[in-house]
Amino acid sequence: MVPPKNTSSVHDTASLDSTTDASGLIDAGERGFVSTLKNLWPYMWPQSRPDLKRKVFYAFLCMVFAKTTTVFVPYVYKLATDKLVGEAPVSSLESSLPLLVFTPLILVVTYNLMRVLTVGLNQLRDGFFASVGQHAVRQLSNIVFAHLHQLSLRFHLERRTGGLSRVIERGTKGINSIVRFSILSGVPTLFEFLLIAIMIWYWFNLTYVLVIVVMVVAYVFFTVRTSNWRIGIRRELNRNDTDAHSKVVDSLLNFETVKYFGNEKHEADRFGKAIAKYEKAAILNWTSLTWLNFGQSVIMALGLGTCMAMSAKSVESGEQSIGDFVMINALLVQLFIPLNFIGFLYREIRQGFADVEEMFRLLNVTPEVQDASEAVPIVVGPGQIQFENVSFHYTPDRKILKNISFEIPAGKTVAVVGPSGAGKSTLSRLLFRFYDVTDGKILIDGQDIRSVTQDSLRSKIGMVPQDTVLFNDTIAYNIGYGCPSSSQQQIEVAAEMAQISGFIQKLPAGFETEVGERGLKLSGGEKQRVAIARTLLKAPPILILDEATSALDTQTENEIQAALDEVSKNRTTLIIAHRLSTVVNADRILVLDDGRIVEQGTHSELVQQKGLYAEMWGRQQELSEAERQLREVQAKEKMRLQSAKNS
Ligand code: ATP
Repeated sequence: MVPPKNTSSVHDTASLDSTTDASGLIDAGERGFVSTLKNLWPYMWPQSRPDLKRKVFYAFLCMVFAKTTTVFVPYVYKLATDKLVGEAPVSSLESSLPLLVFTPLILVVTYNLMRVLTVGLNQLRDGFFASVGQHAVRQLSNIVFAHLHQLSLRFHLERRTGGLSRVIERGTKGINSIVRFSILSGVPTLFEFLLIAIMIWYWFNLTYVLVIVVMVVAYVFFTVRTSNWRIGIRRELNRNDTDAHSKVVDSLLNFETVKYFGNEKHEADRFGKAIAKYEKAAILNWTSLTWLNFGQSVIMALGLGTCMAMSAKSVESGEQSIGDFVMINALLVQLFIPLNFIGFLYREIRQGFADVEEMFRLLNVTPEVQDASEAVPIVVGPGQIQFENVSFHYTPDRKILKNISFEIPAGKTVAVVGPSGAGKSTLSRLLFRFYDVTDGKILIDGQDIRSVTQDSLRSKIGMVPQDTVLFNDTIAYNIGYGCPSSSQQQIEVAAEMAQISGFIQKLPAGFETEVGERGLKLSGGEKQRVAIARTLLKAPPILILDEATSALDTQTENEIQAALDEVSKNRTTLIIAHRLSTVVNADRILVLDDGRIVEQGTHSELVQQKGLYAEMWGRQQELSEAERQLREVQAKEKMRLQSAKNS
């Protein structure tokens, strides 16, 4: 199902902060209410599912029968009472009713049967509607989840993941409330009120109806006013809830960092402050609820008291029977139930709408990077890459790449080196089209990457990222992720090529070992080799290695380097590196500094140029030499200690 269009779509670079939108929703008011209802309607009345529409109809029938039965229950009660006290019916119509021939016992049984029937019909109604509600929840959850993956990297970097998942959670719950309470309860309540009003008018008189109408209007007015006030409180509560939840997620994701800095107390304080705000809002939420409940009870008592007093007077003067007195009480008490429900309904529906609206706002965020309308799948032949006068900034006030041009000939390896923050990884993000270039263009085999579909583009590029994050699943799952249809044998071959199968075989659970949240149970080097294995499985014609061997020791690095050289053979490869030793064999090396290419050539050419590269190379050589000397000293010291121990 296609997500419904909303007139107010938001671009994903625009602000949609889950911590600020609560106040925005208050401003949205009724306009938001109507547009949310319009957005939601296709899910409540699904065009492509006649079976569900039929169930909605059955549910509606159950509702009508249940409510009609409900309003006649007090009447049977009145008849039983009149029979017991031996009073004659007051109106001529009543005397002709067949129920009058029944004994009090039969009337009592009828009364109870009708009550059971009401409950049964209500349950049947809920049963019919359950599948409609759940279908809406499933459809929307799927769409929102898929949509989140369509949104740009920028959007996700700016949002808190915990906050986003909360919006979806509350949104889907909100749909349930709306579907259940608006269709199942809102309409039935109005219907019941109408039936009761007609009955009271018929059996009593217009004064009673007027008293009841005044009571209902006062009740609804008070409920709506108070509920509106409470919605603001509830939003504050939601905002604080989201904030506290995000802090927990963020803190636990950074579990190791917290330990490195011994900041457990700081984290607890931060969470404590957030939860204290939540507590304050929660208390206000409860106290406002008690105020609402009390106010409602007072209004009801006034209405009920007035009607009962009027009826008592009429019984005394002989205008009404005792059964009538009992009936007005029973009818009004019965009316209180749906009336009481009106407050609840209003609160739930408003709350549901607020939550669902928040979710639709998310759904209406349009992805920053989109396929052009005439986009076609990319055709990658030899795999030549060209950056032509590319400029780029994340935010306009800070240019990252400044008019960069270079080419990676098909099947060749080009390495980009340079100081930290020079914009090296940005090149790979642009090639992957996480962002669009601000100026210039990137071509693959002559095709501008903005003119092809993102799916096809990304399917042709393999990426071994700087910081590998794994799924909280098994090693086999994470390697197989590169090509979900691959067999166990293919996974094992890829692991072998990435030099990780030796490690996996030593694990008790082998390929079925769980890697933990974000892959934290594996070392940096192991994670990187898993990332290499899954890229091998993807077998793309173009490869990006972003500091791919940064987390490995020298020996493993050499082994992996050999594997990577093998993989990148005949593949167009872009290496982004800090350690110059990993790129000496590249066909061409670009030196990036402050967003510009300042030098380029082969390793030996660049060393001879005696520029920035030669300087970096010299520094790294010195560093490696110092490391080597340190290791030698350590080895000698170890041997000395060993021999001292032996002697
Ligand atoms: P390193 O070698 O340290 O990884 P790099 O050369 O790969 O650095 P990039 O990751 O390309 O650097 O980042 C270039 C600059 O862009 C950095 O100064 C960084 O702070 C900035 N930057 C990166 N991502 C974003 C972003 N999403 N929003 C704003 N600025 C960003």
